[in-house]
Amino acid sequence: MSEQVREVIILGSGPAGMTAAIYAARADLKPLVLEGIQPGGQLMITTDVENFPGFAEGIAGPQLMEIMRNQAGRFGTEFEQVHIEKVELGADVKVLHGGGKDYRCKTLIISTGASAKWLGLESEERLKGHGVSACATCDGFFFKDKDIVVVGGGDTAMEEASFLTKFGSKIYVVHRRDKLRASKAMQERAFNNPKIEFVWDTVITEILGSPEEGVKGVRVKNVKSDEEKVIDCQGYFAAIGHSPNTEIFRGSLDMDETGYIKTELGSTHTSVPGVFAAGDVQDKIYRQAVTAAGTGCMAALDAERYLEEQAVSG
Ligand code: NDP
Repeated sequence: MSEQVREVIILGSGPAGMTAAIYAARADLKPLVLEGIQPGGQLMITTDVENFPGFAEGIAGPQLMEIMRNQAGRFGTEFEQVHIEKVELGADVKVLHGGGKDYRCKTLIISTGASAKWLGLESEERLKGHGVSACATCDGFFFKDKDIVVVGGGDTAMEEASFLTKFGSKIYVVHRRDKLRASKAMQERAFNNPKIEFVWDTVITEILGSPEEGVKGVRVKNVKSDEEKVIDCQGYFAAIGHSPNTEIFRGSLDMDETGYIKTELGSTHTSVPGVFAAGDVQDKIYRQAVTAAGTGCMAALDAERYLEEQAVSG
């Protein structure tokens, strides 16, 4: 077991974690990034990123993450691929347990991200990145003049469907009930959009197509009549919500009712001194790579200031 106490450990290796690492490493804090089970985060399943400033021609998500990782490594960031199972955040020295080891640090930056929820169909998994997506902002552009199916009935689904009307010729919103969960204003916006058609009381049972040819349609079933049919489409977006990856922090940090870590307004401070949160794990509104990177930078600066204050007072 390692007794070394690090100045900073960064948990999670998406844009928030990598940006925190770049800043912390350049501040000579010798950060350790624990990369977790999905190194690189959600961008690893994003085909092309066209809205990250600085890449005028666009860049593949995995390539962007490789560049960020190299940049962090260049200044001395260390990386370990380990899944942390348990944390102890109460004392000045924070302890993380995982892979049969203990990791100790004075400051912890949590950037474990969020995961889109999927229906869980085998065909959905097989066609991810081939017409199946969970991020209209990332991938909507690739469905110009195409028919698209969005599943879900909450604000995310309304927002994704409305956004996709900029590109697609027809957007079907498939919802399992006959009432939406979304806020009234977002519902109205969707109802008033002539490109959006609602398919009520309906569940999706299969996404049709192949990785080579892309999505061809979705097989659906009406839950009231049991009637089955195929909706022809070239794109399918899961919009049934996101879950922040915060399970291991439950009981240790203040969170909102949906599990997002609460941070002080205008900073990345959590309810525990020395613990900071950046990226999608504390943001359910923007959820962009560039906003995650921005808060990653803030977290490293907040950690640096915290360490300086501790050194002065200690
Ligand atoms: P929600 O949990 O609000 O809605 C999820 C939707 O997906 C529900 O309609 C639900 O159906 C449906 N759903 C869930 N699981 C399944 C499944 N397995 N099969 C079929 N349908 C399913 O999540 P959202 O992401 O929409 O919103 C989360 C929070 O974020 C909310 O508080 C929302 O207001 C907020 N938000 C705000 C935005 C904004 O203000 N711009 C944008 C996006 C989100 P059912 O209704 O039957 O349960």
